Amino acid sequence: MGNALKVAIIGSGPAGMYTAGALIDKCPGCEIDILEKLATPYGLIRTGVAPDHQTTKNVSRAFDKIMENENVRFVGNISFGDDISLQTLREIYDVVVMAIGTPKDRELGIEGEDKEGVFGAQVFVYWYNGHPEYRNAVPHLNIKNAIVIGNGNVALDVARVLLSSTEEMKDSDLVDHAREMIFDSPIEHVRVIGRRGPEHAQFSTKELSEFKDLSTAVTVTDPALIPDSFEGTDAKETKVVNNNLSLLRDYAANKPVAGKRLLSLDFLLSPTHIYGDDRIEKVRFEKNRIEDGKAVGSGEFVEYPCDLLVTCIGYELVNVGGLPVEKGVVKNTDGKVDEHLYVVGWAKRGPSGTIGTNRLDSQRVVDVIVADHCDGGDGSKSGAKGLDAYCQEKGIETVTFSDWEQINEAEKQRAKDESPRRKFVRTRDMLKLLREGQV
Ligand SMILES: Cc1cc2nc3c(=O)[nH]c(=O)nc-3n(C[C@H](O)[C@H](O)[C@H](O)COP(=O)(O)OP(=O)(O)OC[C@H]3O[C@@H](n4cnc5c(N)ncnc54)[C@H](O)[C@@H]3O)c2cc1C
Repeated sequence: MGNALKVAIIGSGPAGMYTAGALIDKCPGCEIDILEKLATPYGLIRTGVAPDHQTTKNVSRAFDKIMENENVRFVGNISFGDDISLQTLREIYDVVVMAIGTPKDRELGIEGEDKEGVFGAQVFVYWYNGHPEYRNAVPHLNIKNAIVIGNGNVALDVARVLLSSTEEMKDSDLVDHAREMIFDSPIEHVRVIGRRGPEHAQFSTKELSEFKDLSTAVTVTDPALIPDSFEGTDAKETKVVNNNLSLLRDYAANKPVAGKRLLSLDFLLSPTHIYGDDRIEKVRFEKNRIEDGKAVGSGEFVEYPCDLLVTCIGYELVNVGGLPVEKGVVKNTDGKVDEHLYVVGWAKRGPSGTIGTNRLDSQRVVDVIVADHCDGGDGSKSGAKGLDAYCQEKGIETVTFSDWEQINEAEKQRAKDESPRRKFVRTRDMLKLLREGQV
């Protein structure tokens, strides 16, 4: 290889980090800057994964190892599209890789969706996980009836967090503002509602089983909707679904208990209308039946009271920085967008799969990058030096990885009881800590 390949990865979530890891292995000597709009790294590991699922967050240790490489820099607090354009990035780096995820909630597309008390999952999850842009997103939880629409693990996360007690969250990193509201909420009933049947739900068995252990709520479901067994085309899927059906049968045998909250797992319902004046008051659903594997409306309707609605129906990318966006992702062929421009992770293939799915996917895109740039850089790009000069000229106060380590340490130090950290939820507090040593 000739000159070192200078690479900018935009976004420090799992896809960006796995891309950096694979580039180190497959393109020795390349120089990588990971640009991130937040002052904190690792994307949804911090801002998406549930605060009581700390073991899942341990994947960040593997990302810390990648950051130990002297040719990899974290450059936080710089936003692509706002602080720096694609054109500037192309001028500074040989290769630009977009790893910006899918930051917008998909909409239901029904009347009343704009009412107060209706949230997309991303907004709600970002709020309880302390994403700086969403710390004030939820004004109160002075509510009785919540509905969570969606039949994936995110819907289960939202329901579980809403119903959790101080004790259940004691070793989580649920942020202060959400703690107060959740634990003080007079909430009585949470419904998790899916469009299709129990056998079509995308729950993982572990997440579904966690409702067994909720101390404040009883979980129920309609036994009439649970099939005796499920036979899919894939053996692994068949096993998971049958394990889930068995759990649902246990839940179906439960009865509401006086003094306890209720969690209902409801199926075969599609929302058609959200009612209320300014604020949501109730939701109308059409009952569905399954025809040829698809949910079709039956013409029969039910209405449920509701003062909080969280939709967990997926995410998409919208136009940012002039990238070609189609069907909610950056338009690409095997990760290649254009000469010298690539995309990985959810921004490439949409919001599906686990953290680990991004690893193989990023490795494949790195193979494409390495094949395209096997001769290294063209020697004309300034890379890290160019970015630093640009940030200085524009007055962008970036955050380095060792700055993040300082923030990380401070969050751990100020944690209470068994909580692993007490997050800072304002970027300005993090910058103040770095400048002045205290907040
Ligand atoms: C609520 C939720 C819970 C989840 N829980 C689990 C779980 O328990 N287990 C599991 O395996 N998977 C889980 N997942 C899936 C997992 O989080 C994703 O597979 C993974 O995070 C996708 O990685 P990514 O890097 O493509 O996107 P992201 O993780 O979203 O990372 C994108 C990064 O880009 C940054 N960025 C965005 N825009 C810009 C910009 N303009 N300029 C600079 N930077 C930018 C963001 O700040 C972020 O850091 C969960 C997902 C969600 C939504």
